[in-house]
Amino acid sequence: MPKDNPRHPDFPIPSGPDLRAKNWRAEGLLRLLENVLSVGEAPEKLIVYAALGKAARNWPAHAAIVKSLTEIEEDETLIIQSGKPVGILKTHAGAPMVIMANCNIVGQWAKAEVFYDLERKGLICWGGLTAGAWQYIGSQGVIQGTYEIFMRIAERRFNSSLAGRFILTAGLGGMGGAQPLAGRMAGAAILCVDVDEARAKMRQEIGFLDAIAPDLDSALAMIDAARAEGRATSVALIGNAAEIYPEIAARGITPDIVTDQTSAHDLVYGYVPAGYDLPRVRRLREQNPEELIEAGRASIAAHVSAMLEFQSRGAEVFDNGNLIRTQAKQGGVENAFDIPIFTEAYLRPLFCRAIGPFRWMALSGDPEDIRRIDDLVLKMFPDNQIVTNWIRLARENVPFEGLPARIAWLGHGERTDLAVAVNRMVASGELAGPVAFSRDHLDAGGMAHPNIMTEKMRDGSDAIADWPLLDAMTLCASGADLVTVHSGGGGYAGYMTSAGVTIVAEGSAAAETRLRLALTNDTALGVIRYADAGYADALDEAAQKAVGHIRL
Ligand code: NAD
Repeated sequence: MPKDNPRHPDFPIPSGPDLRAKNWRAEGLLRLLENVLSVGEAPEKLIVYAALGKAARNWPAHAAIVKSLTEIEEDETLIIQSGKPVGILKTHAGAPMVIMANCNIVGQWAKAEVFYDLERKGLICWGGLTAGAWQYIGSQGVIQGTYEIFMRIAERRFNSSLAGRFILTAGLGGMGGAQPLAGRMAGAAILCVDVDEARAKMRQEIGFLDAIAPDLDSALAMIDAARAEGRATSVALIGNAAEIYPEIAARGITPDIVTDQTSAHDLVYGYVPAGYDLPRVRRLREQNPEELIEAGRASIAAHVSAMLEFQSRGAEVFDNGNLIRTQAKQGGVENAFDIPIFTEAYLRPLFCRAIGPFRWMALSGDPEDIRRIDDLVLKMFPDNQIVTNWIRLARENVPFEGLPARIAWLGHGERTDLAVAVNRMVASGELAGPVAFSRDHLDAGGMAHPNIMTEKMRDGSDAIADWPLLDAMTLCASGADLVTVHSGGGGYAGYMTSAGVTIVAEGSAAAETRLRLALTNDTALGVIRYADAGYADALDEAAQKAVGHIRL
């Protein structure tokens, strides 16, 4: 029986023991497709997050995917091209059940205008990272990443504590909506600016945001009061970041940490220029996208100039993966790249050891399954401080959206060990149902993105997309249940390629083999990618854990 979904009543949350598909591998993937819509930003348009990231090309394609998943046999593979199923092929029981390629446009043509044209013709759609791959779990998906960034900054700059510190950010959408909760969990007073009141209200309703301030003066007063008491809080302000950031700077106020997670990557369907209200923006999307692009670039120039001003006054300023520096540079801000990208600045040492955003979803819909796995993680990895601290915090603070799920930054070997142990719990009946394992595409082996994931690689290999392609092929050879290759669409067209993977732990010996091979090889390739680039941490990890790296 599916569960009611108050946020999107037409998109119930899958749950229960009954299968519509012929096996749990296909049923699990079907539930994940249903889940990304149940927690998505605009499911009636199949949009999951990041302005245009879609779960399927269109509604007929969606219906055909659902039908295919309910009919597919264990020894068949469903082929999906940019959100449209194009065939079911006879393979074998050890092969993936679904393989996908989303939005991959040949190099010279991989531009936003070509993407929009192909999209209008119904030939392509953008899958974001986890949207088209049915791996999105709501804002929780990026929450630990955001939290870890704040904590790394705390360690480097603020004696390991953000109590009494002011974080300024913007964007409360599908991913950005994690920021207020991550900031509060990190102990800070965080102010989040968004033009769309509905987004802020929704984050407040689901427990990710404490309060919405009526105006800038009140917002700053609420932040100041929390800072004075060393109290963690999250406050939203409805407004345009391109106006609010410069205004805060003009008042002589300097936050301790500044970032942004508006959908700056997409100037047509995402970013709202200063001086434009939402109805006007929606009209112009169809009538005059060029005006939006021009106005958006000018706004981003002001937005990023204020961020640079904060940086020059000593604030810790970083790009949180939305191409805002790239847009600002195109808008004339020559030094936009003085702002570092979060991956290179804070997280690369973790990626060198293939520690990244691993996740699992309880396909039964039973939150108890996640609690039992939380206990297991604490028992299995008592010495892993990042993960034990996170699990304790998350179980107290992170509300579930859609299927109960958990994200935890685990590395090579750890992911495999956990998944195999969970698969055995499924087999023994300790859990109410199977569990799907996946990860963000922003992971050690999974992504080439020269302005986000692979910026300033030690050996200069930033733009080489061989790695995610090798990863996807490795995952197919390892028998993962779903394997996908994505490239950027909309404003990300031409900017990235990534690989995604999902495996359903349904309790069988075959599932254990799939989990062992796919998860081990995925993280092994991640370590190899960074070892090949010459990172000492990755070379050490490769040597210690014998990942099969060949050193020339
Ligand atoms: P979204 O489209 O769901 O939400 C964007 C939000 O920004 C909306 O609420 C919108 O109202 C707001 N907004 C737009 N212009 C604004 C402006 N000028 N001032 C204030 N608010 C404005 O997008 P999302 O899924 O939250 O993703 C946000 C960005 O983060 C995207 O560029 C996405 O690609 C990127 N992203 C980064 C990571 C990462 O790992 N760091 C992960 C996922 C997504």
